[in-house]
Amino acid sequence: MAIIFQHVTHTYSTDPLHTFLGLDDVNLTLDEGRFVGIIGASGSGKSTLLQHCNGILLPTDGTIQIMDYEIRSGQKLKSFRDLRRRIGLVFQFPEQQIFEDTVEKELIFGPRNFGASEDEAKELAQKALLTMGLPLSLLQRNPLQLSGGQMRKVAIASILVMDPDLILLDEPTATLDPKSRDELIELLYRLCKEHHKTIMIVTHRTDEIMDYADEWIVMKEGTVAYQGDTQGLYEQIKHGEHLDIVLPKPLRFWQQFEEQFSLSCPIHHYSAEQLAEHISQVVHAKGASACSKD
Ligand code: ADP
Ligand code: MG
Repeated sequence: MAIIFQHVTHTYSTDPLHTFLGLDDVNLTLDEGRFVGIIGASGSGKSTLLQHCNGILLPTDGTIQIMDYEIRSGQKLKSFRDLRRRIGLVFQFPEQQIFEDTVEKELIFGPRNFGASEDEAKELAQKALLTMGLPLSLLQRNPLQLSGGQMRKVAIASILVMDPDLILLDEPTATLDPKSRDELIELLYRLCKEHHKTIMIVTHRTDEIMDYADEWIVMKEGTVAYQGDTQGLYEQIKHGEHLDIVLPKPLRFWQQFEEQFSLSCPIHHYSAEQLAEHISQVVHAKGASACSKD
């Protein structure tokens, strides 16, 4: 299931005199099964882009093709009912999408709405909760009284319970402690690789998904400034492309290492472990000749 943006522009207007450009002529093709990081400065259009992927926001101009749908400006949102089931969006602040007073009610709401029986919905709810690594004892708790990490996982479970093909998450780790952050990213990665979900995450912490992202989209002033893998991202920044982002730490480290040793050696993965391995090769070979090895 590819998503194709063609010349998509989105203008927010509070009144005719005040308009803000959210997206500016965006062209993009996204393939299924990928773990995609969406990064960029504040106000660059990350949330706007994400919200176009399930029809929450409609383009002012241009078209978006998702599955069998073609989304254009002026369409009725009702026509996207099935699309919304197959593409789940987790908002930046999960409490904004939680409105039931028990976790169970919250989780069965979607399946019930789409015709599942009470028993079927409860079974799906339990499965989604367990997939998110949460205990079944939470089912009767008020979701708004859970910890930030648990609430966020419940919000994701309420999307997962619908078995979507694509899960969109807007800064899912904001306000989480480092351990919950790592756990959540690991979980999302497993959903992507083991359950074949396409995951798109908006984050301002590039470091946290550095080891996982198959692909990056860098937004800048409403446009896609870069789309591609980590190596390409590194090369762009190394060659002076101003993407308005802070390079993830492993890449900053690698950039300094290359500069210090006057090296330029392409590598294909940039996790801390892979960099350590590569550096060990360079050191052992005592020179740049090791750089040709990968
Ligand atoms: P990001 O998620 O990268 O921080 P957004 O997609 O939220 O950026 O915003 C992109 C641009 O659209 C910004 O200039 C922002 O001010 C503007 N914008 C976003 N939401 C609204 C809105 N509801 N009304 C007016 N302007 C908005
Ligand atoms: Mg945002």
